[in-house]
Amino acid sequence: MKVVLQNLTKVFPSRNKKSGEEVVAVNDFTFEIPDGKLIGLLGPSGCGKSTTLYMISGLQKPTGGKIFFGDDDVTELSAENRGVGLVFQNYALYPHLTVKQNIMFPLENLKGADKLPKQKMIERAYEAAKLVQIDNLMERKPSELSGGQQQRVAIARALVKMPKVLLLDEPLSNLDARLRLQTREEIRRIQKETGITTIFVTHDQEEAMSISDMIVVMKLGVVQQIGAPQAVYDDPTNLFVAKFLGTPPINVFEGEVKAGKLYIGAAAVLDVPGVQDQPVYVGIRPEGFIPTANGPLTCNLSGVDVMGRDVSLVTTHSASLNPVVRSIVDADAAKNASGITVSYSLKPHKVFLFNKETEERVYFEVK
Ligand code: ATP
Repeated sequence: MKVVLQNLTKVFPSRNKKSGEEVVAVNDFTFEIPDGKLIGLLGPSGCGKSTTLYMISGLQKPTGGKIFFGDDDVTELSAENRGVGLVFQNYALYPHLTVKQNIMFPLENLKGADKLPKQKMIERAYEAAKLVQIDNLMERKPSELSGGQQQRVAIARALVKMPKVLLLDEPLSNLDARLRLQTREEIRRIQKETGITTIFVTHDQEEAMSISDMIVVMKLGVVQQIGAPQAVYDDPTNLFVAKFLGTPPINVFEGEVKAGKLYIGAAAVLDVPGVQDQPVYVGIRPEGFIPTANGPLTCNLSGVDVMGRDVSLVTTHSASLNPVVRSIVDADAAKNASGITVSYSLKPHKVFLFNKETEERVYFEVK
């Protein structure tokens, strides 16, 4: 089922009538989510991710704009009538019910023509449980399950009504690091197997990048960029997106473009044809540095972190906005980096320039 958001906007009125300002939680969000894809809604706390999800689910009414499921306008439809499955961070299973009863609960609540015979409900509960691989735990109570298993029950409960759209709000945040990794792969598998259009809210860029077909990066209610994770990483539209994606994060320097050359400090570090003279922020991905004897960008070396095949060189530079400049280089190439300083040449497609005032990307031709 494709989901279309058309100029979707949500304004919360101020709580304090005298001094408070209204909050524009989501501002004019337009996007067509293709059928059967997994979309990651991504951004820092308060950027409007959850509000977007709640509007799609029907739990919150938009202030403006429309929502379509396929060709149907569902903007005025109640949450129960939209055919969505919802999984929250706080999965809130009923403690006195077994796993089977928890999963069947949404079916028990169906009314009229939608009501299923008991046997059919049990079959559907087992199908959903199989999908998330907990069909051997059906008679247990939630307190007898691990966090990861409880989250699977919550997902099975959302799937049992065969939703048109599956909405997941930070579903992994209560799990420990290892379980998070495992469960996110599970979610990807389940989504692929069922083909249900799924929207996944997270503030964890790595999580969103690893499982999403497309990511939507939001800031203060405004969509910054939409695209395939790799495409957004490789071609960020502004400094915010560049900084938000990537581990270790992008290195940002103060720089200046003069006569088609990019300067960091006094050093001309790269040719940037076609860019007007201006001060810029320079973003360099950690993998964009090549240790080179007499390379144009020289940093002070403060440490080497071994990461296996690669190493991370921890350095400093007076023009850097971050306390350290971190590069990821081939372990062999790092052998040269044993002195007090390390000199780099740069991979042009890993270097991004941003206007200093708007922080929007300034493009140059990569040869
Ligand atoms: P988080 O990751 O912290 O959950 P989020 O990106 O999901 O953040 P939202 O919960 O969508 O953000 O909130 C967006 C903005 O709207 C925030 O500034 C928040 O304070 C505000 N907001 C959310 N719900 C309400 C409400 N019911 N009344 C007033 N303001 C609200």
